[in-house]
Amino acid sequence: MMKIAILSQDASLYSTKRLKEAGEAQGHEIKIINYLRCYMNITSHKPSVFYNGKPLEYFDAVIPRIGASKTFYGTAVVRQFEVMGVFTANESQAISRSRDKLRCLQILARDGIGLPVTGFAHATQDIDGLIDTVGGAPLVIKLLEGTQGIGVVLAETHQAAKSVIEAFRQLDANILVQEFIKEASGVDLRCFVVGGKVVAAMKRQGAEGDFRSNLHRGGKAEKVKLTPEERSTAVRAAKSMGLRVAGVDLLRSNHGPVVIEVNSSPGLEGIESASGVDVAGKIIEFVAKNAVHGSMKDRIQ
Ligand code: ADP
Ligand code: GLU
Repeated sequence: MMKIAILSQDASLYSTKRLKEAGEAQGHEIKIINYLRCYMNITSHKPSVFYNGKPLEYFDAVIPRIGASKTFYGTAVVRQFEVMGVFTANESQAISRSRDKLRCLQILARDGIGLPVTGFAHATQDIDGLIDTVGGAPLVIKLLEGTQGIGVVLAETHQAAKSVIEAFRQLDANILVQEFIKEASGVDLRCFVVGGKVVAAMKRQGAEGDFRSNLHRGGKAEKVKLTPEERSTAVRAAKSMGLRVAGVDLLRSNHGPVVIEVNSSPGLEGIESASGVDVAGKIIEFVAKNAVHGSMKDRIQ
C-alpha cells in the first residue's frame, strides 16, 4: 500500500476524481492536495511542505495536475517534494519545459522527432522571409501563449498570412508559423504515454469546417489504432521532454507522424471514454511501481 498525493486545484475535476478512485481501487491511500494552498520552507536540514497550518504527513509519491496558469507556483511545490525525496509522476523541470511551446519544439527537433516545418518570430520586418521558411501559404499561425486551439489560425494565401502576422505584431505577441498539414484533414491523434508506453490513444476530428481538432472547440473523439511508427514517435517525444506521463498530439502527414504538442497534465475524460482504457489505473500502477515506499518519511523524521 502506497500513500499518494494528487496535487490538484479542484477535487471535483474528472481527472482528479478518477485518479483518486483508481488509486483506492488498487488499495492505496490517496489524498487530494490543493497545491496553491501549500507553503514551504526552503532548508537543506528538514525541507517540508505545509498545508492547513501543519507539515504534511508523508507520501510515497505525488501526481501533479498543475493548471497551465499556475505553472510557476505549482512546479515550485512539486520541486519541494522532489527535494524531500518523493517520487513524482512528472518532474517539475519537465512540467515547466512542456509549458513553453517553442522550447518544446526546439527540444523535439534536437532529438530528431518529426515536426511540422516551423518558423518563429516576434517582430520581424521580414514577413515574406518568415512565410517562405515554412514553404509559403497555406500555413498555420499560432500565438505562443494560446491554448485549447484559441490563437491558432489557418492562412490560406500569402496575403492572408501577411495580414495575420502583421496584426499579431501590433499586439506584441510571439508567434509560430507552421507548415499546414492539409492531409491530416482536421484530425489529430492524442497518444497517452505512461512510463515509456502508449497506454491509450484517440483520434479527434474538428467540428465541421474547422481544421482544429480540439474537443474544446466542438471536436469529436474516437478510438484509434496507431501504427508502430506513431507509437514510437509518441514515446520518443515524451522521453525527449523528460515526461513520464504525457499526452502527445500527432498529425498524420505525408512525411510521417509529426508532433504538434506535448501536454504534461493531459486530461483523462476524453481519452478514457474514447478508448475505453482505465488510464487513471495505468498512471497509478506506474507510480506505485516506481515510488520508494517510505522515502519521504526517512528524510524528514
Ligand atoms: P493548442 O495548444 O491551442 O491546442 P495546437 O497547436 O494543438 O494548439 O493546435 C490546435 C489544433 O489545430 C490541433 O489539434 C490540430 O487539429 C490543428 N493544427 C495545429 N497545427 C496544425 C498544422 N501545422 N497543420 C494542420 N493542423 C494543425
Ligand atoms: N488540461 C486539460 C485537462 O486537464 C486537458 C488538456 C488536454 O488534454 O489537451 O482537462
